[in-house]
Amino acid sequence: MDLPQLSASLQDCQRCQLSKGRTQVVFGTGNHKASIMFVGEAPGFYEDREGIPFVGAAGKLLTELLQSIGLERSDIFIANVIKCRPPNNRDPLPEEIDTCKPFLLQQIELIQPKLVCTLGNFATQTLLERKVGITRVRGQAIHLEHFVVFPLLHPAAALHQGNLRIPLKEDFKKLKAVLDQMSNTPTLLKASSPPTLSTPNASPKDTPTEPPTQMSLF
Ligand code: URA
Repeated sequence: MDLPQLSASLQDCQRCQLSKGRTQVVFGTGNHKASIMFVGEAPGFYEDREGIPFVGAAGKLLTELLQSIGLERSDIFIANVIKCRPPNNRDPLPEEIDTCKPFLLQQIELIQPKLVCTLGNFATQTLLERKVGITRVRGQAIHLEHFVVFPLLHPAAALHQGNLRIPLKEDFKKLKAVLDQMSNTPTLLKASSPPTLSTPNASPKDTPTEPPTQMSLF
């Protein structure tokens, strides 16, 4: 299975109730061989209409932040934990996350990024498989078995709470330093074997296992 095949296989997905209210499945866009992925929460109004993640106001801010560290959207792959818009942009439900998470993991397995930047609580807790607050873990490189997770505040949160803009910008600077470090460290860029991530039914709200190893890249 390749990424376009995975995308095609999801276009008529009816596995959860979100299929009833969506305009379309928002699979994700960008570079299929990206070494950096960004993962948000769920499509909103504009994303549902256009079929592309992060095209609304939060997306504009994300694009600016990417450009501030020398990245274009075409350099990376952007996806969401949930591929269909929740009604009125409500939070995804645990069962919706459980249903959609395997497809995010398949995307990661196919793209094989070195770094996965999680935007906000839902993406961070889904990939770390623990209920940890974004404000505690943001801006840190967290090594999982096959890739590094780098949690960031969600750009929508920074739009709603102006005091989060500076920390978000600071974390992008840290991200740049991590990327520079990775490109100077050949072993970190070495192709990894495909992740064999399990997709347990545990919701990120379940309380978890041991914390993943946190290891700064510096
Ligand atoms: N917020 C998200 O988490 N994802 C999008 O695609 C848009 C806004």
